[in-house]
Amino acid sequence: MAERITGHTELIGLIAYPIRHSSSPAMHNEAFAKLGLDYAYLAFEVGNEELENTIKGFRAMDVRGCNVSMPNKTVVHKYLDKISPAAELCGAVNTVVNDNGVLTGHITDGIGCMYGLKDAGVDVIGKKITIVGAGGAATAIQVQAALDGVAEISIFNKKDKFFENAEKTVKKLKEKTNCVVNLYDLDDLDRLKEEVASSMLLINATGMGMKPLEGMTFIPDKSYLRPDLVVLDIVYSPRETALLKLANEAGCRTLNGLGMMLFQGAAAFELWTGKKMPIEHMKEVLDIKY
Ligand code: NAD
Repeated sequence: MAERITGHTELIGLIAYPIRHSSSPAMHNEAFAKLGLDYAYLAFEVGNEELENTIKGFRAMDVRGCNVSMPNKTVVHKYLDKISPAAELCGAVNTVVNDNGVLTGHITDGIGCMYGLKDAGVDVIGKKITIVGAGGAATAIQVQAALDGVAEISIFNKKDKFFENAEKTVKKLKEKTNCVVNLYDLDDLDRLKEEVASSMLLINATGMGMKPLEGMTFIPDKSYLRPDLVVLDIVYSPRETALLKLANEAGCRTLNGLGMMLFQGAAAFELWTGKKMPIEHMKEVLDIKY
């Protein structure tokens, strides 16, 4: 008889909409199996409307925790008991831990991105970087980069509902860190070209590049890029987005979002289980090569 799932197995959920494309269930279940830990990780396609009921259900069932992704990251804090200082600063939660009925919200995206860069041998400390995006993931990366000692961050975003969020982030980072932070309209392409030219790393932290925006990028052509620029697209499905294709053609070092996904997951894994994720094994399984 199959023994992997028993009457003692604890559930870890993932709540987002849409979410069927996610690699997180395969990643966490592989790591649980590798370490012989009695947990199962399952994805639930839940948006803002059913979020409160879902969290209530998790409480009632004493579920150990969950990951939270779009569109729930900036909303889920309303239904939790505590928020970590980093999640508070970011205004977003991607990991919930249930300690005997007390639900705490954490953010591991920024840590995951910074660890992923370090693991790939990309040293950004004391340097200038450009980040496109102002949503949950972008904010987490901007906060962690500034806290870790990146010297200067140029942020670009469309003048949509997220732009105001970026203005708040810039204000907070200016108050709380020594990082030089500037915010620009993504429609200002001349400025984008200038800021990328003086940065060692360009990050896409928007939904551009994955469904429903697959095939789209904010970089109009290769003249915005150069071979010694590193380009990270935090999207990982597809593995090569339109931005990464252009960057590869321009001779840049490119990284997709799998590294960030692995390391944000590893941080969450440790919060739920108290154990380190088997990173080298997971890199092999996820086919992460630098
Ligand atoms: P979010 O909804 O909080 O933010 C969306 C961002 O995309 C905003 O900056 C918004 O302005 C921008 N955007 C949306 N439509 C746009 C358009 N048409 N043109 C230009 N910009 C547009 O989302 P999020 O949670 O921050 O996630 C953003 C992306 O990052 C998603 O693709 C998600 O899959 C990816 N992500 C990856 C990881 C990882 O571990 N690799 C972790 C979190 C998120």
